[in-house]
Amino acid sequence: MNAKQYDYLIVGAGLFGAVFACEAKKAGKRCLVIEQRSHTGGNIYCDLVEGINVHKYGAHIFHTSNKEVWDYVNNLVPFNRFTNTPMVCYKDKLYNLPFNMNTFYTLWGVKTPAEAQAKIAEQRAEYAAITEPANLEEQALTLCGKDIYERFIKGYTEKQWGMAATELPPFIIKRIPFRFTYDNNYFNDSYQGVPIGGYNKLIDALLSGVEVLLDTDYFAAREKWDAVAHKVLFTGCIDQYFDYRFGRLDYRSLRFDTRLLAEENFQGSAVINYSEREVPYTRVIEHKHFESAVSPYTVVTYEYPDDYEDGKVPYYPVNNSRNSAMYLKYKELAAACDGVLFGGRLAQYTYADMDDTVEAALALWRSVNE
Ligand code: FAD
Ligand code: UDP
Repeated sequence: MNAKQYDYLIVGAGLFGAVFACEAKKAGKRCLVIEQRSHTGGNIYCDLVEGINVHKYGAHIFHTSNKEVWDYVNNLVPFNRFTNTPMVCYKDKLYNLPFNMNTFYTLWGVKTPAEAQAKIAEQRAEYAAITEPANLEEQALTLCGKDIYERFIKGYTEKQWGMAATELPPFIIKRIPFRFTYDNNYFNDSYQGVPIGGYNKLIDALLSGVEVLLDTDYFAAREKWDAVAHKVLFTGCIDQYFDYRFGRLDYRSLRFDTRLLAEENFQGSAVINYSEREVPYTRVIEHKHFESAVSPYTVVTYEYPDDYEDGKVPYYPVNNSRNSAMYLKYKELAAACDGVLFGGRLAQYTYADMDDTVEAALALWRSVNE
């Protein structure tokens, strides 16, 4: 490979790297993408099994209120209108998510918004002394009270994150919508869906005409890779990039048990959460429902939270105060790195949805071209 043959070396063929590569290619830049996995797409990659797109690294539903982002992805591949209406199972009984009038009716028998609000006000009153919630438990109790917290949040959260809810930051739980209508749509966003034909179509469209090397770990030969391009976009783990100089950031991993079943419809919903601590998995995903796939088979995935260690996928950053402080130190080093850009959920150590990822990659591309 000739020296400085490329304008950009892009480390990681996930959504962030792919959007950036697409924009750079459109602007006539020469890009090389290297990816340690044997496929592109990062965590949005799908396996095709019996005509069903299986979300290999966890269920992915695109949702956004950003019209520019929605138009951007739909111009690459049409999306369907999949509306996420998950259920949650607690002690063998099913309830609707997000917390809405259907949930309150099943839980307390209340039928009107006024009755539900009165019930929740009564539940919250116990925690009125907490004015500034310091952790996830306090945030949840002040938001929904004890019944909802103990049934649907505490067990799920503690197994998901592998730590007590009192050690977790409040913001995690703010992600769950809470409403007083009979509306089971999990998201409040204006747009929602999955690419027709699966996420690989989106990634293939983004990377069309871009040179990609799979099974290629940047760290196996970083000097060689740094030498091939004028600039580097790094989308891997920021602590690894700096040789763990300030210590290792914590991540949470997942384990997926995926099964092909000779039946048409296993659970009648794409997503069912299991909120008891004693049930070891957090969610069961039935993939065919994302695209209403017609098949005599179905594919289901049991999602188990897992401790992170080398060799596993670092799915979630653990944004507690220790890690946030350590990340800020890495971020300072990154800002001082000439010719290297950092982006994506691993390099920015952030809990970013796909729309945030697309928006951030477009913003980074624009910022380097100002
Ligand atoms: P990644 O997808 O992680 O891509 C980074 C890539 O870099 C990977 O392919 C990795 O292998 C590669 N890489 C890392 N280090 C190296 C190296 N040293 N050398 C070469 N390659 C390297 N978002 C939603 O909007 N809706 C959802 O429903 C949703 N569900 C999710 C469910 C789960 C379980 C998880 C974990 C995330 C979910 N997300 C969801 C978030 C979504 O996955 C991310 O927004 C998006 O995938 C981030 O893209 P990325 O490119 O930043 O990261
Ligand atoms: N959560 C919960 N019960 C549920 C679903 C979610 O307590 O049935 C909490 C849990 O702490 C989780 C957070 O809400 O980590 C965010 O949930 P979301 O479904 O957005 O998680 P993701 O899909 O990003 O894993």
